[in-house]
Amino acid sequence: MKIQVEEGKLKVPDVVDIPFIEGDGIGPDITRATKKIVDEAVTVSYGKDRRINWIELMAGEKAISKFGTPLPDDTVKKMTEYRISLKGPLTTPVGGGFRSINVTLRQIMDLYANVRPVKYYPGLPSPLKNPEKVDMIVFRENTEDVYMGVEFPSNSEGAEQVIELLNRLGYHIREGSGIGIKPMSKFGTTRIAKMAIDYALTNGRRSVTIMHKGNIMKYTEGAFKEWAYEASKEYGDKVISETEAAGKQLDSKVIIKDRIADNMFQQILLRPDEYDIILCPNLNGDYISDALAAQIGGIGVAPSGNIGDNYAVFEAVHGSAPKYANLDVADPSSLLLSAVMMLRYIKWSEPANVIEKAFLNTLRDKQVPQDLARHLGVKPLKTSEFAESIVQHMSSK
Ligand code: NAP
Repeated sequence: MKIQVEEGKLKVPDVVDIPFIEGDGIGPDITRATKKIVDEAVTVSYGKDRRINWIELMAGEKAISKFGTPLPDDTVKKMTEYRISLKGPLTTPVGGGFRSINVTLRQIMDLYANVRPVKYYPGLPSPLKNPEKVDMIVFRENTEDVYMGVEFPSNSEGAEQVIELLNRLGYHIREGSGIGIKPMSKFGTTRIAKMAIDYALTNGRRSVTIMHKGNIMKYTEGAFKEWAYEASKEYGDKVISETEAAGKQLDSKVIIKDRIADNMFQQILLRPDEYDIILCPNLNGDYISDALAAQIGGIGVAPSGNIGDNYAVFEAVHGSAPKYANLDVADPSSLLLSAVMMLRYIKWSEPANVIEKAFLNTLRDKQVPQDLARHLGVKPLKTSEFAESIVQHMSSK
């Protein structure tokens, strides 16, 4: 049965239809492993009372060979209809003419937040001395900023018109410059700020840090900071700004603070335990997410969700790694942990906890695929063996 929305909240049936796109390259291997682990965890948690009914949707190379397009209309329609889905990595088709699946889904379902939890699991290789201090969640705005693609190539009519306008306004833009525009709105900022603060309050997180370059880009990134602080005022005494918080008893208040983007990069390395939720515009979010992922074992184990209001697509952070396609060697952890996010999003936290615990115990026993095994100096497991090991660990202490 489909997930419905009642009074603004998701209503998840006990047998829930969840569409998935298996993806290209390593996609089939890691999707198979992930579904197997998730199904087992749901059974361990709920017996026969609950189940996921996986519905395969076509996209990527499979869809091109069948329908001549990497993103058939039916796939978009079903992902919207079923609201929540899981997506494997897709190879970007060579040669233009195809619309990007991520951009299309983001626009149609208005998935305005890219959410990336970055938490260290003991056993993962990390370049940090104390990686256990890393436990942050990036809320990256997904629909504005330079990523919107408002760009004009050098010497194009659009670029010439924009340059002419700017020069009339008193700027001195060089002839032949390429132009990119960075729009950021109060609407876009407020809704992601609220999503981040709501998440912090509901999940007992300590702080929300606004990451921005507002000292230089005053009316975009600076405004992002101001609007985010303004949005936080709606939460009354449930939140407190860092300046107000100094020396006070905080109870369960969430601290709202801000840091300039370049400083943020040293903060996450030198004082990771002082940061929790990071709220940022699109480009900052892109950079900081991968920098953080590197601190906890790389993008092979970093999960993500593109989330809107009661719509979400959960996906691995990495690409389709074609050289490992169908070799049964890829690491399914990123997609698996994205599925864990998905289970929490639909409020099936029991199987999410079962998977996380089994995953931890599997790492503790150094039973890992090749990307991790080569750092740990142990014999690698195949993707399917790693999945089986996680399933076995569901019943171990
Ligand atoms: P990639 O697929 O992420 O792979 C780069 C390297 O990262 C691999 O060669 C491998 O490193 C390692 N790696 C990534 N995921 C792994 C996993 N699960 N297990 C083990 N190793 C893993 O990046 P790419 O080669 O630049 O991109 C390939 C295709 O994917 C491109 O067409 C790209 O456009 C697309 N892509 C799609 C998405 C998406 O669908 N969301 C995201 C990014 C890229 P080693 O060689 O060191 O072992």
